[in-house]
Amino acid sequence: MPLINLKEALKCSIDQRYAVGAFNIANHVLAEGVIQAAEIKGLPVILNIAEAHFKILDMNHFMHYLLDRVNCSSAPIVVHLDHGYTYENIIKAIHYGFSSVMFDGSNLSYQENIDKTREIVKIAHAAGISVEAELGYVAGFGEGGSEKDENIFTKPEQAEEFVQKTGIDALAVSIGTVHGIYKGKPHLNFKLLKDIRNRVSIPLVLHGGSGLRDEDFKKLILCGINKINFFTGNSAAAVNAIKKEIEKEKKFGGFPELIHIAQMKIKEVTEEKIQIFGTKPLGLKGD
Ligand SMILES: [Zn+2]
Repeated sequence: MPLINLKEALKCSIDQRYAVGAFNIANHVLAEGVIQAAEIKGLPVILNIAEAHFKILDMNHFMHYLLDRVNCSSAPIVVHLDHGYTYENIIKAIHYGFSSVMFDGSNLSYQENIDKTREIVKIAHAAGISVEAELGYVAGFGEGGSEKDENIFTKPEQAEEFVQKTGIDALAVSIGTVHGIYKGKPHLNFKLLKDIRNRVSIPLVLHGGSGLRDEDFKKLILCGINKINFFTGNSAAAVNAIKKEIEKEKKFGGFPELIHIAQMKIKEVTEEKIQIFGTKPLGLKGD
């Protein structure tokens, strides 16, 4: 099954009301865990590589491995740049062979976000690469997680105009989720999400999926979410599995065994999430 772009992966997700998981990978172990989960399920998956992780990866070598692995995979896979902030890194990602990029201009003014996103769409689309952009602001690690953040939420009328003016393939929205670990109970604004869905006809993206309950995911998908970013949950599950193994009788087989345990945990959590997200096989051409 070849590498696919984000538009192809999400083609039927609005009509059929499901989401495709976007799992962050920052090394081979995370990549293998997520790819194997997709292969077992026989369903599409999105591999997110954040611009922030370029510095801990030798991207040239890693991408050789990853694209080869993806092209040998029995599941359709998107290789997506997560939170690209600079023009330079977006172009780099296109050269590396990513099939999709996110340009995050959420820290810019509304007009600047439109202008820069539109430029990137022109270049990416010319190369067959999908573009996700963000409108509103999804709080970072340790920030947010309460109703007081509503001033950074996505505005439905702006979302409609933004999509129309930029030509993007997917829109990341801010409706109450936060990146990383929630300080308290998440306050999700489902009404706002529905309002955005009613005005926007492209797939909507949820950042900050870790820490939400299964019923939250199901409701978010029903209200219009089609791509869910999930990282912290996989990362924490892998670390806990390793800790547990080390503490168990104070002995363990060694480094390869520990890494294998972490990888199996990532696979297990990813499979669970694919199930909860209701991901369906890719639609056939003409669907
Ligand atoms: Zn994010």
